[in-house]
Amino acid sequence: MDFKKYIAIVPDYPKEGIVFKDISPLMNDGEAYKAATDAIVEFAKEKEIDLIVGPEARGFIIGCPVAYALGIGFAPVRKEGKLPREVVKVEYGKEYGKDVLTIHKDAIQPGQRILITDDLLATGGTIEATIKLVEELGGVVAGIAFLVELTYLDGRDKLDGYDVLTLMQY
Ligand code: IMP
Repeated sequence: MDFKKYIAIVPDYPKEGIVFKDISPLMNDGEAYKAATDAIVEFAKEKEIDLIVGPEARGFIIGCPVAYALGIGFAPVRKEGKLPREVVKVEYGKEYGKDVLTIHKDAIQPGQRILITDDLLATGGTIEATIKLVEELGGVVAGIAFLVELTYLDGRDKLDGYDVLTLMQY
């Protein structure tokens, strides 16, 4: 399927000079959403994944249907203050200043094979922080899957040594 047909390109959003890739038309189309999910499900089967982990909010949109299809669990990674029980946290650099991501301490059993999902790979900062959380809890990052990769931002450089699937590249 030509997934790019379902990506809306939005110039100057959220600010001037940024060309935003909006995945919501893809989710809006049942056939396209299912085909994208199925492609990631196949990847997850190859990697013998035990658990999906995704950062808020669009990582949930990609990861949860994959978890459902495989009959495995999903663990959310969220901004600080959003998860109610004991967490581990990681600070990571954003374009302006820093941000913090967290995961529940009991979300991953040591040795579990983890697939990390998100909608889009840009600079890789978000996924690098998510990998740190997974590995801190003893999870094995067996795969990382995105719908979209912005190759010109070189996010892959931060993911050296990991198995990465992207369904579209710009
Ligand atoms: P990174 O940490 O620089 O790789 O940025 C990736 C994160 O920012 C992902 O969680 C995306 O949801 C979000 N993001 C960055 N650029 C875009 C875009 O053009 N479209 C949709 N999401 C984006």
